[in-house]
Amino acid sequence: MLEKLKEEVYKANMDLVKHGLVIFTWGNVSGIDREKGLVVIKPSGVDYDVMKPEDMVVVDLQGNVVEGQLKPSSDTPTHLAIYRAWPEVGGVVHTHSTFATGWSQAGLDIPNIGTTHADYFHEAIPCTADMTEAEVKGAYELETGNVIIKRFEGMNPMHTPGVLVKNHGPFAWGKDPHDAVHNAVVMEQVAKMASIAFAANPNLTMNPLLVEKHFNRKHGPNAYYGQN
Ligand code: 13P
Repeated sequence: MLEKLKEEVYKANMDLVKHGLVIFTWGNVSGIDREKGLVVIKPSGVDYDVMKPEDMVVVDLQGNVVEGQLKPSSDTPTHLAIYRAWPEVGGVVHTHSTFATGWSQAGLDIPNIGTTHADYFHEAIPCTADMTEAEVKGAYELETGNVIIKRFEGMNPMHTPGVLVKNHGPFAWGKDPHDAVHNAVVMEQVAKMASIAFAANPNLTMNPLLVEKHFNRKHGPNAYYGQN
């Protein structure tokens, strides 16, 4: 069942290792088949060097395991909350990549201060609020999804495809698992660049016109970046 999506999700998980975004078992990627309403996700706590495409777990949007011998990622309810909230999302990624997690732990949004950021993320990459005691003690991973969705009220999640969960780490998404990994890699790079830039000049600024120019030349109605 969903063999092609399993291959895609497996490869996207392995790409996290290739891009240096995960060590040990810290991270997970999923992908969704919207027609079937089924999600394929990495199994929990399995080393990347022994993981195989057939180890990917199929769950429905309520989190029931539909196929698979292994337990799905512990973060499955967070991924599912994102899929339920935002129908354009086709893939979700979570990592503990160093610089993005550093900003999560600092509890700060990553301001849009460069064209690298603006090419992929229209706004600051937001950091979520503190989770309440009830959220932490309750359905924690589902509530993590809920704080992400709440943070995006009034924002377009496809224009700013990533978030920092406070004191935890980054989640990114995209139109499919590969695109979500691409955005997670860019988010880490942007977090690294912002760390260096703010260390060099805490009072730095960026002309908002430059943000609009770069975002729109790739994603706007008259986008002209790349090949036709
Ligand atoms: P899983 O192995 O359960 O996906 O957990 C990885 C992780 O990063 C938890 O936040």
